[in-house]
Amino acid sequence: MAADWSRVRADFPILQQTVHGKPLVYLDNGATAQKPRVVIDALVRYYESDNSNVHRGLHALSMRATDGYEGARTRIARFINAADPAEIIFTRGTTEGINIVARSFASLLKPGDVILATEMEHHSNLVPWQQVARATGAILRHVPVLGVDAEGGLDLDALDRLLTPQVKVFAFTHMSNTLATINPAMELCQRARAAGALTVIDAAQSIGHMPVDVRALGCDFLAFSGHKMCGPTGIGVLYGRRTLLDRLGPTETGGGMVVSVDYDGARWKPAPERFEAGTPNIAGAIGLAVACDYLDRLGREAIARHDNALGQLAYEKLSALPGIRIIGPRGGRGGLVSFAFADVHAHDVVTFADEDGIALRGGHHCNQPLMRKLGLTSTTRASFYVYNTEAEIDVLVKSLQRILKFFGGA
Ligand SMILES: *Cc1c(COP(=O)(O)O)cnc(C)c1O
Repeated sequence: MAADWSRVRADFPILQQTVHGKPLVYLDNGATAQKPRVVIDALVRYYESDNSNVHRGLHALSMRATDGYEGARTRIARFINAADPAEIIFTRGTTEGINIVARSFASLLKPGDVILATEMEHHSNLVPWQQVARATGAILRHVPVLGVDAEGGLDLDALDRLLTPQVKVFAFTHMSNTLATINPAMELCQRARAAGALTVIDAAQSIGHMPVDVRALGCDFLAFSGHKMCGPTGIGVLYGRRTLLDRLGPTETGGGMVVSVDYDGARWKPAPERFEAGTPNIAGAIGLAVACDYLDRLGREAIARHDNALGQLAYEKLSALPGIRIIGPRGGRGGLVSFAFADVHAHDVVTFADEDGIALRGGHHCNQPLMRKLGLTSTTRASFYVYNTEAEIDVLVKSLQRILKFFGGA
């Protein structure tokens, strides 16, 4: 069934407001997405009727909370086509998921081993690996990004040279939050596997915007955040192949993750509990499962077409503005545009656009090394989602013209 995009906006209570007297044009989806009524209602319903702690309870509320929480795990396994719900570890978000993998890898790495990342990684998929490299004596290398303005794709020839037998893990983003590049994740996983390396995918930007199938991709680990896919904040998922998870030690210890404890030691439960010490974000997990339902009702293939078409249209319309530099690939891009003006700072662009009711993001987007490589300190980013429209791109273009006029005339 084809999604009726004109009706999607009505599902999001927050979008019904005006900002500075103008209809809100929310183009900051790369940072976080808005929540549909069904997700908000699920959180309220949980706290109003089922709130209790999970796992150890035998009373009615605790059983309902446990069913909701474990049901969410099963729903999310289906959302990414994991083979087994035990492969779904609930986290706070992408950052925590990558930290769990990186830290548990520390025991498997020795001096001289190589961790491979790319030049386009978000700080969340870079700094944890730097820390592990420092702690283990492993070497961190980066697959280059091609052609500063031209493509913004990964240098796949360099990848072949970099995938030496010393590479133990290859961590890369599915979609760049700054360049809008969509990486050929399936091919990257195949090449890494052929070289004997495990793969970690940062799916923060892809999960809500296109089909993500962990078995089709052939990845070993994949991390994402609920809040960028219409789910609540404070909940995310680390997927890991079951056989690998059972080999990794926990990174946090405490209640809920142990089989038995005495005064001198403890034995760990298997995954996923092994990685979920303490009381989890029960409401968040339930809300995230409802977000999965919501996105699947729209259809993720359809969402990808919609968001990417807006990204492409914005690329074309913004290209006509004087003095603009848009980074990332010309075609085949995801649903966002990052741009810089020669004479107007990104923070001024964001502030001016805000007066017109438009929410943009300006800065380094947690991509400082990439920005430096591109010769920039910051860009302005407009990022699109299911409720955005072509008309909103025209509002953006008008606002940018007003900004350029102001600074040009100043
Ligand atoms: C947002 C983002 C992250 C971090 O997600 P958190 O929810 O802040 O943990 C990591 N990688 C990419 C590509 C992102 O866009």
